[in-house]
Amino acid sequence: VTIAVPKETASGETRVAMVPKVADKLAKLNVDLKIAKGAGEGSRIPDESFKEPVQITDNTDDVFGADVVLAVNAPDAQAIGKMKKGAVLISFVQAHNNPDTVKALNDAGVTSFAMELVPRITRAQSMDALSSQASAAGYKAALMAANSLERFLPMLTTAAGTIRPAKVLVIGAGVAGLQAIATSKRLGAKVFAYDVRTDTKEQVESLGADFLMAEGVKAEAEGGYARELTDEEKKKQQQMLEKNMADADAVITTAAVPGKPAPKIISKAMVDAMKPGSVLIDLGASGGGNCELTQPDEVVTHGSVTIYGPSNVPALLAEHASEMYAQNLFNFLQLIVVEEEGQDDAKPADKTRKLEINWDDEILAKSALTHDGETVNEAAKKALE
Ligand code: NAD
Repeated sequence: VTIAVPKETASGETRVAMVPKVADKLAKLNVDLKIAKGAGEGSRIPDESFKEPVQITDNTDDVFGADVVLAVNAPDAQAIGKMKKGAVLISFVQAHNNPDTVKALNDAGVTSFAMELVPRITRAQSMDALSSQASAAGYKAALMAANSLERFLPMLTTAAGTIRPAKVLVIGAGVAGLQAIATSKRLGAKVFAYDVRTDTKEQVESLGADFLMAEGVKAEAEGGYARELTDEEKKKQQQMLEKNMADADAVITTAAVPGKPAPKIISKAMVDAMKPGSVLIDLGASGGGNCELTQPDEVVTHGSVTIYGPSNVPALLAEHASEMYAQNLFNFLQLIVVEEEGQDDAKPADKTRKLEINWDDEILAKSALTHDGETVNEAAKKALE
């Protein structure tokens, strides 16, 4: 089986789908691993750190001609066009935003698995790239807030007087939000958090933060995700949040609803009510923003409030985000790169492997996006109709 890793081409993407530590493990599976020259540069991984038998190549035909292509973002249509019929792509795809990519995958007859579709079941936890990357984003968001505030986060008792701890409000307590809470707590801030899934209260409190409730708003949906709020619920939520935002030094928003634009939670009026010099870090930026003033990848100054809308935060933590992502891919690969039959007596290092997709496996069935010229994920198919 040949497995290849291209150099990412999306602007601002510094991550890579393979790191030396994971490449070594893959090589032990007796697969043929090729890495595009310079692929690791953005993550500070020089080509030389990939050791034999891993090959570095500057031939893109060779990379995209592999049986399995591993990437962070789906390659462009031209590159996908170089893939073999029946070859496998494993990457983030975000089909609803990338119809051309899906068309190219179908035209080429590529079997693609979208990392954002991996089900959130216990057996798939080690492959859950949404979680690994969201952890990186939540951590970094807390640091961005701390760094841009002209205030201390912790309480200080000094000869020059006592400084009160800063207040951080985290909106959305999923994977990214919980990591933002934990990081802000470690830095000594007083942390408040809010989520429409009231089940998150316990998790928030276990991190030492206070959970805020919006009376009458409870929006749990299937699979542990949130549903969109009704207009009435939105109003209640905003009233409660406006009060608490006025009291916060930093607000970090992470709210998301799968397959939908980021919920618009924070209005201009709510920002107007914030304290002078406070900051808002909007992790919903890539989905259009949780705040109506957010501009993706720009710093907006509104009065004396600063709003950051970084669209690819894991890329700011490229070394570890890549390492975690590569490990997620390695775990996923184990499902489709399997031992050939009749090798029970062989030593593990001598066993040969083949590519085989077991469509009865829930993880594979649910994360498949395209197969044999068709879009096989129902939600993606509907979104693209
Ligand atoms: P996400 O990125 O889809 O959303 C982030 C958070 O925003 C969620 O907690 C959501 O409830 C919240 N949100 C949505 N609309 C909101 C609004 N209007 N106001 C405030 N908050 C709002 O979520 P995620 O971080 O990917 O996690 C989703 C769920 O998946 C969680 O229940 C998590 O525990 C679960 N999960 C399970 C596993 C597993 O079992 N393997 C792994 C990871 C996550």
